[in-house]
Amino acid sequence: MVERQLKARGIADPLVVDAMLRVPRHLFVEEALRNQAYSDFPLPIGEGQTISQPYMVAMMTEALLLVGGEKVLEIGTGSGYQAAVLSRIAAQVYTIERSSVLARKARAILDSNGYANISIRVGDGTLGWSGEAPFDAIMVTAGAPAVVEEIKRQLAINGRLVIPVGSFKEQVLKRVIRLTESDFREENLLSCRFVPLLGRHGWQDVPQR
Ligand code: SAH
Repeated sequence: MVERQLKARGIADPLVVDAMLRVPRHLFVEEALRNQAYSDFPLPIGEGQTISQPYMVAMMTEALLLVGGEKVLEIGTGSGYQAAVLSRIAAQVYTIERSSVLARKARAILDSNGYANISIRVGDGTLGWSGEAPFDAIMVTAGAPAVVEEIKRQLAINGRLVIPVGSFKEQVLKRVIRLTESDFREENLLSCRFVPLLGRHGWQDVPQR
């Protein structure tokens, strides 16, 4: 997975490569799907949600420009895999999941595998985690209709936010860097497809398919 899917496509940050090597992805998928855990696609994790493709996890992690030791917020815990990868680089990871079923599963896997620097909360991640802000880096792993102001405001100066923004069907992965208290720089990184970010500052409802 690391050689063919990540390095071959340009993932070069040694911290990211090392984290991807150290976290056993098969722990985060159902038993019936374990033989596909290292394959080049997303997989279902229950509740209509998915664990992202390995490349997307690595690419988004790299896009946060971590050097080690940061305080990081993730929105959309899902299986807990992305949080586990972040926890191998950052000092402390805070992650929010709206589904209590998924949060409970993720917590059980992370706890039983010794991931001690991850705090999981059930709630609406579009509000961020104000009690722990500011964050050096924030990753949103569900697609938002627009960059969420509430989340931007929880970035430290020089902090980086990575967030998929667009329609229900497809998004652009954006990186927002907080330059000063009031100045932000926004870049488009690549196109992507995520499940919707549902919540007060996200999508209000799942439209008919
Ligand atoms: N990062 C996950 C994959 C996330 S899938 C992993 O590594 O497995 C997106 C997740 O975002 C889903 O679990 C979904 O329930 C969650 N989600 C959607 N809207 C949310 C919100 N407003 N707050 C928190 N979680 C949300």
